[in-house]
Amino acid sequence: MKSKILDGKAVATAIENDVRNKVYDFENNYGEKITLATIVIGDDKASKTYVKMKSKACERVGIHTREYVLPSFTTEGLIKIIETLNEDPEINGILLQHPLPKNIDEQKCFDKISEEKDVDGLSSHSFGKMAFGENAFGAATPTGIIKILDFYNINIEGKKACVIGRSSILGKPISAMLLNRNATVTLCHSKTKNLKEEIQNSDIVICAVGRPELIKKDWFKEGAIIIDAGYNYVNGKSVGDAESPEGIASFYTPVPGGVGPVTIATLLENTLKAAQKQKENINQKNKQYIKGGK
Ligand code: NAP
Repeated sequence: MKSKILDGKAVATAIENDVRNKVYDFENNYGEKITLATIVIGDDKASKTYVKMKSKACERVGIHTREYVLPSFTTEGLIKIIETLNEDPEINGILLQHPLPKNIDEQKCFDKISEEKDVDGLSSHSFGKMAFGENAFGAATPTGIIKILDFYNINIEGKKACVIGRSSILGKPISAMLLNRNATVTLCHSKTKNLKEEIQNSDIVICAVGRPELIKKDWFKEGAIIIDAGYNYVNGKSVGDAESPEGIASFYTPVPGGVGPVTIATLLENTLKAAQKQKENINQKNKQYIKGGK
């Protein structure tokens, strides 16, 4: 079978072009810059690299960043920073880079990010709203995966989808998103028996494990759609969670160049949307105030 590559860079470029135009319009309309606050705590090299890539992407589309890189911190200290940023009218979105050092209560900190600035969609309230199908920022990586499928007009409804990995940033939210799009979803994890069988029965497979090439090429059903979100370094090379499904899959994302670029583009889009929504809210409040004054 001839497999088609789902080119994440092409999807990301299309999103970035659209965001760049809208950021330009926003600045012209309001005379204000859109600003994303980024927070990295600890010494995780990968986190620092990811945030650098996100800042560069912001620069490409005209979004400003305010960067906080802190060697170590406490949960209480971090919460204070987040609360200050929540109140800061110059900040439109807050990105708290995962993973945080073990001494910090990560979810507690995500949950302190105000809903309107939670552009990475990792708070419990954003997750809950998204899972209920309400309007909220979805976590960037799973939202990016849905964007890839939509970009290539891949129908989700009625398909059997298998998600491998159940983290709250990736496996769980992508399962809820696929379910919201009427897929029949199986969510697998380290205690799943017969992983191979679950994969063999699936039309769409989302790999979100973080184990290099754990999933073998011959586990996939002929014609399946494979999205590999895994990003692992082996001998200086980045590899996914699955062996390349070239020749078996109908469509698949490469590693690198698949899910990663779209994750970043989604963050940009969410930051723009957050800024637009904040302006709408202010306009509405002003209108109510004027009405009330009459
Ligand atoms: P994580 O928090 O470590 O979660 C890994 C999940 O995989 C867990 O649910 C774990 O199950 C499951 N798992 C581990 N071994 C397994 C096995 N042998 N069989 C089945 N399931 C197994 O990882 P994550 O943060 O979700 O990240 C997953 C991967 O995605 C990593 O490679 C990461 O780098 C990548 N990622 C990429 C992007 C991007 O933008 N491209 C963004 C985020 C993450 P248990 O729950 O039972 O332990």
